[in-house]
Formats: sequence, C-alpha cells, structure tokens
Amino acid sequence: MRDKPYLTSALRDRKILANSEKNVLFQCIVPEMGYIGVPDIADCTNGEQPILVETKTTGKLPRDIWIDNRIQMDVYLIGLESLSFKPKYGIVEYVLRTYQSIRKKFEIQIDDDLRRNIHNTSNEVRDILNGKEPVPCNNPRKCASCGYRDGCPWNL
Ligand code: SF4
Repeated sequence: MRDKPYLTSALRDRKILANSEKNVLFQCIVPEMGYIGVPDIADCTNGEQPILVETKTTGKLPRDIWIDNRIQMDVYLIGLESLSFKPKYGIVEYVLRTYQSIRKKFEIQIDDDLRRNIHNTSNEVRDILNGKEPVPCNNPRKCASCGYRDGCPWNL
C-alpha cells in the first residue's frame, strides 16, 4: 500500500504530517472493504505509531462524540491497521466556530465490536448503493441541518 513508506519515514523522523486541500500526504485506503478517507492530521512525533486527528468545527461543543465522527475515525484506524500499524487510539477534536481556542477532544480506541459494527455499516451502505431502501432519520433537527435535505424524500 502506497502510504506506508510515507508514514514509516515520518515516524522515523518524528514528523507531523498535516493533510490539507493542497497537501495530502497520507490517505487511509482499504480497497477490500471499500473504505477511503483523508484524516486532517497524522501525528508521527512519538516515533512509534501515527496518531490520527480529525478536527470538526461546530456551533456548540457536543457532550459526547457524534456517531458519524466516531465511525469516520474508526475507519481511519482500520486503514492504519491494514498498513500493519497498531494505533492505540485516534482523536476527534471539536472546535467552537466562534472561539476557536475552545475545544473538546475525544480519544477513540478500536476493538472487535467496533470492527464488526464498521463492517456491518459498510455492508448497509453498499446495499443502499445497490438499490436497497434506506432507513430514514426520525430526528427533525438533524434533517434541518442536513446538507441533503433539499433532495431527500424523507426530509422531516
Ligand atoms: S434530510 Fe434525509 S438524509 Fe438528511 S437527515 Fe433527514 S432523512 Fe437523513
């Protein structure tokens, strides 16, 4: 997999690889599962394992991590594992839009239950892409802020 040499040399040099729109040095790709993703940061400064960090800007810091952000980080961790790394955790950090110094971090650890959940979720998504009817959301507040609401037949 083409990312491993980048990460291995970054670990050796204890570098932080920061991905941005102009600078994508690390991608998590798991072709056999259909996963692809680009974490915001792969921090290699401990010289042992990359620590992935995903940053989310929000109007209100959540009490707990949002499930879609959790799944996103789990997929990134599975991507690292597929490159033979053994990530202990990943970080999802929420940043308050109005005061960017106010932040809240969650450390995500992956286990076998989560791996199974991710696998099931990815199978569900694949089924929907292949024509299966999706289960709509039942939360009007979520629909109100959803980017797909204009074209979604289940918009509440
Ligand atoms: S608008 Fe549609 S896609 Fe968006 S949250 Fe509601 S049901 Fe889900």
